[in-house]
Amino acid sequence: MFLTYIGAEGGRNEVWYLDTGATNHMCGEKALFTSLEPNDGEVSFGDASKISVEERGVIAVTLNGKEVHRNDVFYVPGLKSNILSLGQLVEKGYCVRLRDGTLAMKDHERREVVKVKMTTNRLFTLRMDAKETVCLARTEEEEESWLWHHRMGHLGFTGLKLLSHSKMVEGLPMISPPQKVCEACTKEKMKRQMFEGGKSRRARRQLELVHSDIAGPFETTSVGGSKYYITFTDDFSRKCWVYFLREKSEALDRFKEFKAMAEKESGQPLKVLRTDRGGEYTSRLFDEFCKEWGISHQLTAAYSPQQNGVAERKNLTIMNMARSMVKGKGLPKKFWAEAVQVVAYLLNRCPTKSVKFMTLFEAWIGWKPSVKHLRVFGCVAYAHVPDHGRKKLDDKSEKCIFVGYAPMSKAYKLYNPVTEKAIISRDVVFEKDNSWSWDEAVRSTKGMFFDDDDEEDGGQEAKDEMGGAEQPSPPS
Ligand SMILES: [Zn+2]
Repeated sequence: MFLTYIGAEGGRNEVWYLDTGATNHMCGEKALFTSLEPNDGEVSFGDASKISVEERGVIAVTLNGKEVHRNDVFYVPGLKSNILSLGQLVEKGYCVRLRDGTLAMKDHERREVVKVKMTTNRLFTLRMDAKETVCLARTEEEEESWLWHHRMGHLGFTGLKLLSHSKMVEGLPMISPPQKVCEACTKEKMKRQMFEGGKSRRARRQLELVHSDIAGPFETTSVGGSKYYITFTDDFSRKCWVYFLREKSEALDRFKEFKAMAEKESGQPLKVLRTDRGGEYTSRLFDEFCKEWGISHQLTAAYSPQQNGVAERKNLTIMNMARSMVKGKGLPKKFWAEAVQVVAYLLNRCPTKSVKFMTLFEAWIGWKPSVKHLRVFGCVAYAHVPDHGRKKLDDKSEKCIFVGYAPMSKAYKLYNPVTEKAIISRDVVFEKDNSWSWDEAVRSTKGMFFDDDDEEDGGQEAKDEMGGAEQPSPPS
């Protein structure tokens, strides 16, 4: 019926019909779209009629001088009215209530965003220039931006925007910075070091120069039993790899592992390794290994951290982000290693100043990474348990926490706080990552998580634990 209905109130671009019968938002005005992509599918209406939709995209409207976007809108040429699908809004987390001829809609935080009275034609219409619409649109858009801020490990909105606008990764929607500031970021007084700069001469190919540094020991042993981590950063691409150590003496073994993997991936030999003078790097065995493979090992001058600046700046960034992620989800300290691993993974998919117009991942391997599969670190996830692993009446899924990305296998790393077991699974259902309440988690996991009674102390505690060891260690 909407197909033929022409809005009585105002121009047809301004009025949107709130419709329970439509499966999708729809717009017939091509000019309102900022982006369109091919779509094969059809849209059904309340009266069971269907039409095919060849394009879908993002709508932008300018309101109060500000541009707002709505994603996933079908472009239906010839459609005379704009339609907002209530079903689609409900799916986004909005709550809709119809009572006494008034339609009220609330967002996931129970804030009222829309309230409209039924028209004489028994329709619910929304003017795009109405104030509540601004609110609604911004909320939806903001929600998405927040979600990606969390998925990308609290990457600043400037970085996120750059990543999406410059199309440096696959699968990231349009990002626009929200009005509010991120509490987790502010609380930790994060110093974003995304835009690290380097003045010294840069390597011209992969593995021409690799920077390495060790962080630790950490007060709390990680879930996997580690006390330290070691990073290897390729100077050319600035891509970074992290390995975990129980003892500093394992540094050489991890270096061998890294060398074999990185050389195979890039097809280039590792030429120069630059580290500080930590004992783990200056052992006889380390020296012998470098000589054997013709690797020139550069040791930075004592008390001159800027010489090994790349590795140390990387460590600072990793620690800041990891702290923010662990604290942000109220996870126990022992998850520092999982957080560090995820951060390294994310950093390789973030923009930096050192490599322009592409992610470190692309600079290393030559193609754009996708971020479609990213989820919020620490959120609740349900792993499907295969038949043979359970009794008939048991739960078919296991409630876990999402703690990382399994390398090479397109699977997720999960942790079950009850059984204290780690799980790798491809078959995972995530709790809507933007709306999880950790108060609930604290109760439901029997003291597994930090008590949130004293925010200040909690923050300090996490900082000491995770931050104490991150400082560039003076040469021993
Ligand atoms: Zn944040």
